[in-house]
Amino acid sequence: VSRIYQSESTQFEVKSCLIGGEQVMVIAGPCAVESEELLKETAFKVRAAGAAMLRGGAFKPRTSPYSFQGLGEKGLKLLARVGEDMNMPVISEIMDSEDIGLLADYADILQVGARNMQNFALLRKLGQLNKPVVLKRGMSASIEEWLLAAEYILAGGNSQVILCERGVRSSEPWTRNTLDLSAVALVKELSHLPVMVDPSHATGVRSLVSPMARAAIAAGADALMVEVHPQPEKALSDGDQSLTPRGFSTMMRELEPVARAL
Ligand code: PEP
Ligand code: MN
Repeated sequence: VSRIYQSESTQFEVKSCLIGGEQVMVIAGPCAVESEELLKETAFKVRAAGAAMLRGGAFKPRTSPYSFQGLGEKGLKLLARVGEDMNMPVISEIMDSEDIGLLADYADILQVGARNMQNFALLRKLGQLNKPVVLKRGMSASIEEWLLAAEYILAGGNSQVILCERGVRSSEPWTRNTLDLSAVALVKELSHLPVMVDPSHATGVRSLVSPMARAAIAAGADALMVEVHPQPEKALSDGDQSLTPRGFSTMMRELEPVARAL
């Protein structure tokens, strides 16, 4: 993953969306796929506002086993169908290496969540996959641990990896995590891989998503991933950090001057 071995930045296309290019790529969608109607409405509105790809969890890593765990394969089918209808590539989380084939059938990008960043058996198997992987930073992982986790995927032969900073655990209780912006700038220096920022999980607070998205772009992020729900107060997961479609559209407008200034 080091620039010592490859000086030029990695770029690749997912369907016709370029990652690592001039333009910041924006991925948006619900934390979890909940229903066809909600997903369609979300996809239609985020695409109209400028999102290029659609996110939606089908296998959710919930702290409590009694919380909504996702719709599983049914959720993946819905995500794939809505993505196709809207002409948006889709991304969803892989939790269990047994499900790689299933995820690869429906998703254009597989996401490894923070809780699985050092699941080395999973990373090794993803190294053999011919699909892009988003590797989220573990909530207490150092930058070196994160880069070495990515190394597992590249060493297996899969060079289509995007690193995602999603906030780290800190002593601050008023935000869910603390967005490590210096990691974004540092990883851009150290590694040729594209870097994504998830300001939703990084803050846990809706009002902080747009300011942190702007900061992420200023720090050099290649992509953003943002949670959006038509009725956040009714969301089955992560409603507090989810933007409404209108809020997402406002965020996209607020990003423009920052992107233009770079
Ligand atoms: C997610 O993006 O749905 C998610 C669970 O994020 P993280 O792994 O960063 O907590
Ligand atoms: Mn979430």
